[in-house]
Amino acid sequence: MDANATTPLLPEVLEAMRPWLLESFGNASSIHQHGQQARAAVEHARESVARLLNCRESEIVFTSGGTESDNMAVFGVVQQGGLVKPGDHVITSSIEHHAVLHAAERLQERGIDVTFLPVSSEGTIDPEDVRRALRPNTMLISVMMANNETGVIQPVEEIGRIAQEADVWFHTDAVQATGKLPIDVKAIGCDLLSISGHKMHAPQGTGVLYVRRGTRIEPLFFGGAHERQRRAGTENVAGIVGLGKAAEIAGDALRDGTMDRVAALRDRLERGILARVEDCAVNGAAAPRVPNTTNLRFDNLEGEALVIALDLKGLAVSGGSACMSGATEPSHVLTAMGLVSTSARASLRFSLTKLNTEDEIDAALELVPAAVNRLRELAPVNAGTLG
Ligand code: PLP
Repeated sequence: MDANATTPLLPEVLEAMRPWLLESFGNASSIHQHGQQARAAVEHARESVARLLNCRESEIVFTSGGTESDNMAVFGVVQQGGLVKPGDHVITSSIEHHAVLHAAERLQERGIDVTFLPVSSEGTIDPEDVRRALRPNTMLISVMMANNETGVIQPVEEIGRIAQEADVWFHTDAVQATGKLPIDVKAIGCDLLSISGHKMHAPQGTGVLYVRRGTRIEPLFFGGAHERQRRAGTENVAGIVGLGKAAEIAGDALRDGTMDRVAALRDRLERGILARVEDCAVNGAAAPRVPNTTNLRFDNLEGEALVIALDLKGLAVSGGSACMSGATEPSHVLTAMGLVSTSARASLRFSLTKLNTEDEIDAALELVPAAVNRLRELAPVNAGTLG
């Protein structure tokens, strides 16, 4: 139940990739038939991804994953000729993934002013805060579509309208939204949108940056003319084919009720734990959330100990803290929502895919209360909640 960390490759995705790993091995830039076959496979995948996002094929750039897509969006818009103009301004939020946050901090070190917008106690960004933060020299707004820790959905369409009115480039990190929510880049009004393959049953090391036609973006890599001069490097044909297949399957799952079933599983898990465990609450409960994620706070408990206890029983989840330079730091997302460090550390993320079953939910509903009670007895942690 840690799908927001990564998802398994679907058998259909592996089958689509298999010929490109074994029999056909052309370089998609080669003129001969092997190259042309690889090119056709890449372009077919591009069509599938474009359909999922409601954009043109030429607006899809294949990358190595969400991190590269985010970096390309952030640096690509703000830099010109590899240089930044000190004093230029970027707006982002305090709950972005580190792929955006650390890129923005790097820009800051180079003289760019960055506004890190706060969030409400439910984990949402107020579009009016975006409007108020705008300056004449704001170059970019980067606000994620759904948060990876809480699943909270951000008001990207309103932010898109504000960006368009102000004539500022708008990037959204949709890594945790893809396949979980319908995505229409035109409705969002974004210029740039990031996707990661491995969060949607495609292989790790694959991703996409949607780049709206007319968006001025500088490449991160220099070399060949691949991806219309936007991303140099021989295409990862098998990975791209897998991503294309996963995009088709993700589109189907949004239409055929599969994601509604995932939402029902998540709701049953969440309600079941709340009913069985005392002093437990959902972080971001009142906000709109993606269907697969719940972030639960178990007061008076060390979350990391619970992650380990559950892992020993075969249940994989993730905690509200991250290991940074050898020390565990409370999650920047949960602390931005106003949780004190002990409460952030006492929080766990459960994230599902369509492959999770009712039986697995039943098992979790047995395991989690038992593990929480045991840990609270063994090593009580006294904690406040909000601060
Ligand atoms: N953005 C978000 C919201 C994520 O959750 C992740 C991965 O956890 C990334 C970006 C980075 O994606 P990747 O692992 O493909 O580099």
